[in-house]
Amino acid sequence: MAVKTLQDLFIHTLGDIYYAENQILKALPKMAAEATSQELKQAFNTHLEETRGQVQRLEQVFKLCNAPVKGERCDAIEGIIKEADGLLKEIEDPEVKDAGMLAAAQAVEHYEISRYGALIAWAEQLEMDEVIDLLEETLDEEKNADRLLTEIAEGEVNEEAA
Ligand code: ZN
Ligand code: FE
Ligand code: FE
Ligand code: FE
Repeated sequence: MAVKTLQDLFIHTLGDIYYAENQILKALPKMAAEATSQELKQAFNTHLEETRGQVQRLEQVFKLCNAPVKGERCDAIEGIIKEADGLLKEIEDPEVKDAGMLAAAQAVEHYEISRYGALIAWAEQLEMDEVIDLLEETLDEEKNADRLLTEIAEGEVNEEAA
């Protein structure tokens, strides 16, 4: 799509994160299945549930903007997931694998946090109040997921891997 205005840029980036969330929806069950740490497995499963809600919130945002629900291929999320897959294939030790998966998951959360941050800033500029509320709910979930992953890394996973 041609991007001319801030509104176009908003919709384009909404499509980008919509595509990314759907890729994450596919990756999280595999990561949960592979996790050895029960805490990490639980964190992936909880975030899978949250991600389903995030996809629905994005669909509401498209509707509020009178835009068709449409993904825009996100090279960044594909790269992050591809890089993680490649690394994990090289790791045999299950506990070292947990540490690698956890770090990859945090790279995903940080990408999401940066995207939602930009979308919220643009929605503020465009004075789309309902949209801001929906995106902020998701941004809070992403930040909490990131914080929980840090706690699990520091509390258990990195020590087990060492
Ligand atoms: Zn495009
Ligand atoms: Fe998400
Ligand atoms: Fe992207
Ligand atoms: Fe997330």
